[in-house]
Amino acid sequence: MKALVYLGPGRRSWQEMPDPQIQHPGDAIVRVDAVTICGTDLHILKGDVPEVTANRILGHEAVGTVTEVGAGVETLAAGDRVLVSCVSACGRCRYCREAHYGQCLGGGGWILGHLIDGTQAEYVRVPFADNSTHRVPEGVSDEQMLMLADILPTSYEVGVLNGAVRPGDVVAIVGAGPIGLAAILTARLHSPRTIVAIDLADSRLDAARTFGADVVVNPGTQSARQVIDQLTSGLGADCVMEAVGTPGTFEDSVRLVRAGGHVANIGVHGAPATLHLEEIWIKNLTITTGLVDTYSTPTLVGLVAGQRLDTTAMVTHRFTFDEFEAAYDVFSRSAETGALKVLLTVSQ
Ligand SMILES: [Zn+2]
Ligand SMILES: [Zn+2]
Repeated sequence: MKALVYLGPGRRSWQEMPDPQIQHPGDAIVRVDAVTICGTDLHILKGDVPEVTANRILGHEAVGTVTEVGAGVETLAAGDRVLVSCVSACGRCRYCREAHYGQCLGGGGWILGHLIDGTQAEYVRVPFADNSTHRVPEGVSDEQMLMLADILPTSYEVGVLNGAVRPGDVVAIVGAGPIGLAAILTARLHSPRTIVAIDLADSRLDAARTFGADVVVNPGTQSARQVIDQLTSGLGADCVMEAVGTPGTFEDSVRLVRAGGHVANIGVHGAPATLHLEEIWIKNLTITTGLVDTYSTPTLVGLVAGQRLDTTAMVTHRFTFDEFEAAYDVFSRSAETGALKVLLTVSQ
C-alpha cells in the first residue's frame, strides 16, 4: 500500500509501505476512505514530537471501511463504515473506566501516527477497535464525519465543556485557526450570548464570522480587553478559550476572563508561560488544560446526524491520495492558502 511516511525532521514521503496486519485479537484493519492532516502532524514534521520515530506513518483522523477484524472484535465486521478516532481506548484501565481515554494506561490514548502507524495510508491497523471507532450513521458523509475524529471533540471537550460555557455567557476564543473555529461551532451548542473571536489574521477573523462569531477583534489594531469590557460592563468574559499555544496568548487569555470565570486552554504549548498568581489569586478563576478524551464523540455524531451541527465549512481544500505531498504543502502554508482542514480521498 501507499502511505505518508515521516522520515525524520523536515522529511516526509508518500511511498510504498507493507500492508498492516492484525497483530492482536482486538485489532481491525480499516481501508481509509477519507483522511485529513492535523496541525500536530506539522509539529511532528518539524521534529517537535521526539516520540515519533523515523519511518512512522502519520495521521490520527480517518473515515474508512473495515476490511478485517481480529478474533476478539465483537461489534464490527468487514464492510462497516467507521470513524477512526484520534484517541484509542483499551477500555479496561483506570482512566478508560472513568472515560478519560486520552490518558489510557493500557496501550491506548493518542497512539495512531504517534507511537504506532497512523491513518494517512490506504489501510490502517486500529487497536482496541471496538472502543476506538464510531460507526458512521446513514446519511452522514465521510467528510462531515471526518471532522469528528479530532478537532470537534477536542474543541468541545477541552474548550467548551472544560470552560463550562452556559447559556447567556460571553465567550472569548483566542485564536481562530481550525481548533478555534471548531470551538465557535461547538460553543454555539450552549447558546452563549456573545462569541468574541480574537486573532491577528483578518482572513481568520472573516472565517470566524462565518462560523458564528458575533464580534471579531484583531489585537494588532484593537484592544481585546476594551472590547470585552464594553460587552460585559467591565467584568470580563465568562469563559476564555486559548486556542493558539503560545505564552503570550495564554497570559492574554487569563487577563480577559472575569472573576469567577473559566480559562480553558486548548493550545499545544512548547514553551513555559507565566501564571500571574499575584494578580489572579483573588479572582476565583478556574483554569483547565487537557488532551481530548473523545467521550463526547457519540454526542457530536448524533448532532451531525440530526443536522444540529454542520462541519462542512471546515474543509477548504480537497485532494486525492496521490496528491498527498501537495496537500501537506497547502496545509502547511495556511496563512497564504487559507487552508482550514484539507480532505484527502481515495484516488479515482
Ligand atoms: Zn490532531
Ligand atoms: Zn485504557
